[in-house]
Amino acid sequence: MTSFKRSLADSHGSSELSSKVFLRSSKGKCTKIVRELYLRHDIPCSSRLCTRCLADTKGDSYGRIRPFVLSPSPPVNDTIKVPHYIVPDTNIFLHCMDVLEHATITDVIVLQTVLDEVRARSLPLYNRLRALVASEEKRFYVFHNEFRSETYVRREPEETINDRNDRAVRRGVQWYHEHLKEAVKDSGGNIAVVMVSNDKGNLEKGKREGVICCSSTYPMLNIGQRG
Ligand SMILES: [Zn+2]
Repeated sequence: MTSFKRSLADSHGSSELSSKVFLRSSKGKCTKIVRELYLRHDIPCSSRLCTRCLADTKGDSYGRIRPFVLSPSPPVNDTIKVPHYIVPDTNIFLHCMDVLEHATITDVIVLQTVLDEVRARSLPLYNRLRALVASEEKRFYVFHNEFRSETYVRREPEETINDRNDRAVRRGVQWYHEHLKEAVKDSGGNIAVVMVSNDKGNLEKGKREGVICCSSTYPMLNIGQRG
């Protein structure tokens, strides 16, 4: 038996999500395990277009704030004609790492859900992805969507882990897009956050949910173009 409980946001900028899992041993004894997850409201988007996250970010225990990663002049190309950041799904990292490593592919959001899936599927590709994240010029940013309250999604009954993770990716992209639209509203700027996937089902669901999507042809067809 499993039950979930979500509490109200507390006064420290985080919400608590706890799950109780009851395990029954072979002798019939029941043990209760409680797992707690603290969801935060202050994990930054790390776009240099966003001043709100900069104001909300508390930094480390010394008050040091990591410099924001994503460019204030995001790429533009023939496929996506507005300034944008891309959010590749797991399969794009697994199958198109060479393209993503190309010097002209920059300003990429790596969702934590995707990073974890890449690590589980291929350690060599995970290490190549970590190298991209470590490169200042590439501007690949790991966003901890599983720990931010607006982007965390709970697995539904009957939902597979894969479907739940795909939904978490779509939710992450949708949140990013709305968040950054809000961030540039006053300055009259334009910005889009785009999910890149080669999964037909995921692309169709994304379009239905209002997520801006692009197939895996995106990075390969548009290398080198920048507005
Ligand atoms: Zn922000």
